[in-house]
Amino acid sequence: MNPDYSSAPPPETKSQRLFFALWPPLELSRELYGVAGRVQEDEARRVPPENIHLTLAFLGSVKASFRQCAEQVAAAIRTGSFTLTLEQIGCWPKPGILWIGPRHTPEPLSRLVRELNAGLPACGYVPEERSYAAHLTLARKLRRCNKNLPIDPLIWEVRRFCLVQSHTHADGARYEIIRSWELNSAER
Ligand code: ATP
Ligand code: MG
Repeated sequence: MNPDYSSAPPPETKSQRLFFALWPPLELSRELYGVAGRVQEDEARRVPPENIHLTLAFLGSVKASFRQCAEQVAAAIRTGSFTLTLEQIGCWPKPGILWIGPRHTPEPLSRLVRELNAGLPACGYVPEERSYAAHLTLARKLRRCNKNLPIDPLIWEVRRFCLVQSHTHADGARYEIIRSWELNSAER
């Protein structure tokens, strides 16, 4: 009721840590959490189901004008919805990450990432130089990579993408979906 306006910065100077992502339905995230439990060793830290996601583009800490621009870019995207088959378990030993992803990235997903990377530089975004690797991180602090375990493919019907705010806390990140856009169902 009585906010302290004297200490609150004007909106433009406030930054938010943002990224575009695909967010699985919680039911799928729970299955993925179960997969991580079967695959990883005990010391690794599993990503809690509500945090499991697939990053499309990481914007970093940005101001309000950047966010507005990014939302316009997102709203102009006409990519079609698609099916993502999660069937490949992998790990990156150096950062100690266990992930799951598709064996082949579907063209509409590549196109979605391409369109974001093409539109966002007008907002001040610097696209990643590394080639895009579609994945969902399932666990961190992995000491050994045991990725040859067979898993049943999990099917994900992807119909929207989201703009997400990352809140950093001492006990890990918390993510908040702040907007989402439907993918074009007519364009399959
Ligand atoms: P934490 O950094 O607290 O361990 P996190 O990495 O999950 O948690 P963020 O750093 O806010 O949280 O990142 C949000 C998402 O963006 C994650 O999927 C992360 O892998 C991805 N990401 C973070 N930094 C980059 C980057 N420089 N390039 C590409 N993706 C990134
Ligand atoms: Mg991070």
